[in-house]
Amino acid sequence: MTHEVTNQPPALVGYDVYAEDAALVEAVHREGAGWADDELRGLGRLAGSEQAQEWGAEANRQAPVLHTHDRHGRRRDEVTYHPAYHELVTVAVEHGLHAAPWADGRPGAHVARAAGLFVWSSVDMGHTCPISMTYSAVASLRVQPELAAEWEPRLAARAYDPRFRPASEKAGALVGMAMTEKQGGSDVRSNTTRAEPTGGGGPGGEYRLTGHKWFCSAPMCDAFLVLAQAPGGLSCFLLPRWLPDGTANAFHLQRLKDKLGNRSNASGEVEFQGALARLVGEEARGVPTIIEMVGHTRLDCVVGSASAMRLAVAQATWHTAHRRAFGRELAEQPLMRAVLADLAVESEAATAVALRLARAYDAGTGDARESAFKRLATAVAKYWVCKRATTHAAEALECLGGNGYVEDSGMPRLLRDSPLNGIWEGSGNVICLDVLRAMARSPGSVEAFLAELDEAAGADARFDAFVTRLRVDVRSGHGEAAAPEAGARLLVERMALALQGALLVRHGHPAVADAFCASRLAGDWGSAFGTLSAGVDAAAIVERARPKVA
Ligand SMILES: Cc1cc2nc3c(=O)[nH]c(=O)nc-3n(C[C@H](O)[C@H](O)[C@H](O)COP(=O)(O)OP(=O)(O)OC[C@H]3O[C@@H](n4cnc5c(N)ncnc54)[C@H](O)[C@@H]3O)c2cc1C
Repeated sequence: MTHEVTNQPPALVGYDVYAEDAALVEAVHREGAGWADDELRGLGRLAGSEQAQEWGAEANRQAPVLHTHDRHGRRRDEVTYHPAYHELVTVAVEHGLHAAPWADGRPGAHVARAAGLFVWSSVDMGHTCPISMTYSAVASLRVQPELAAEWEPRLAARAYDPRFRPASEKAGALVGMAMTEKQGGSDVRSNTTRAEPTGGGGPGGEYRLTGHKWFCSAPMCDAFLVLAQAPGGLSCFLLPRWLPDGTANAFHLQRLKDKLGNRSNASGEVEFQGALARLVGEEARGVPTIIEMVGHTRLDCVVGSASAMRLAVAQATWHTAHRRAFGRELAEQPLMRAVLADLAVESEAATAVALRLARAYDAGTGDARESAFKRLATAVAKYWVCKRATTHAAEALECLGGNGYVEDSGMPRLLRDSPLNGIWEGSGNVICLDVLRAMARSPGSVEAFLAELDEAAGADARFDAFVTRLRVDVRSGHGEAAAPEAGARLLVERMALALQGALLVRHGHPAVADAFCASRLAGDWGSAFGTLSAGVDAAAIVERARPKVA
């Protein structure tokens, strides 16, 4: 009898990750991408399959390997990956998660792609790094039309070609970015990498780059957007791994980082020894040029963290529905139900804001209000959703008890991966300072943000009261009297909560919206998850969140 296994939940496999996520499905339809439903269901079924989950686990178990030199001592500068990693990237590229909206003008294309990333990221977050960077790089590349004309067709191709060959010989290409140096990541103006023109220089011109980058993720990408100091100032370059003559560019990988998580993804340290690159945009316009890319990667940080929260909720509600303690299912124990409901509320709020944000990216520059909204809302959401993900993952892990602490459950990987979106693409403080900057420099973004909140006015008295107080502080916090930096986190947090609240009271499930307003907006709440007030309909919230496997 000692080997009889009882009271252990079945594995959560063989389900549709998309269709079983009511909050995501509703958001996709609401934000204009209902036409993508069938494809998302297909991707959702794949993401929930045993095969895909095994790819995710394997790609993280078998970390990428750096080969600096070949056996004869010649530079090789190649990273090799476990086949599971290539499977993951293949699916992502075949579904256009790396570029589809740039080739597909349909309204809702960015929302559809964000939802796809949300679904597929649940299998493994690491490999979405080059996927996200490629998607985002197009926005910056378009600043230099002839470079965009050369590279965009390669990037938009739905073919992943991992061979270490010149991009011109491959079926498809991926792009990374390298900004961070040893002496500074947030403060990129301290970059020391030098760029010397080989001829006349100028936009699209050729330069030789000499210097280093302290973080360069997905180093097997075919090209990188790089910041370097040109004679005129900090500038943005496109640096290919291979040169037009078929020789390798002077892009020398020194080592790979030994990271907390994100293990399926390689992050290298790299040196450029006279590497050839082409200028994107004007000299000295490096930050405004690459910020086009950074805006999109920040959107993906929000999407990725929202996806992680959904995975956490799916695992926690599943496990507790299938395990009993003290005479009944864990999920039926009132205190566990309170924890699950609180986690689900956080996850739904993150999902709603991620997809709403993606719609702002759909609207493009032609829609002034959406552009202005996007400017502020991206930073606000990036700060808060990414910040919440780590605490959320830790609490969801605890719902699985000791099983959650064991690698096979997937929860340790989720927890390890969770802090990263809060660090890269602007760490928490830097993002909060960016919000203050946006408020001071583009008052239109404040108006657009407040107008979004106004859309929800009258739906819930707690929301209205919260926004009335926030409005005063936001208005006094931009323009001449910029809010003191030390208070920026609290202000941005309140802005994020107001935005999430606005979306939930307008569109959310009534029980979720009620719990959100009572806890996050009216303060009837403690400091840990699981402290929702007694009046909340926790059972309805948990039932909605729990994946149902046929
Ligand atoms: C796994 C991983 C992969 C990465 N991949 C890439 C990549 O592919 N390409 C790339 O370019 N970079 C990459 N990065 C680097 C990442 O973007 C930087 O680590 C990040 O921007 C922060 O820069 P930093 O590490 O130099 O920290 P710092 O800039 O030194 O910041 C340290 C802390 O100080 C805070 N801070 C900074 N300025 C202020 C201020 N004025 N007031 C208050 N607080 C402040 C920050 O918020 C942060 O918490 C990667 C990082 C990781 C962890």
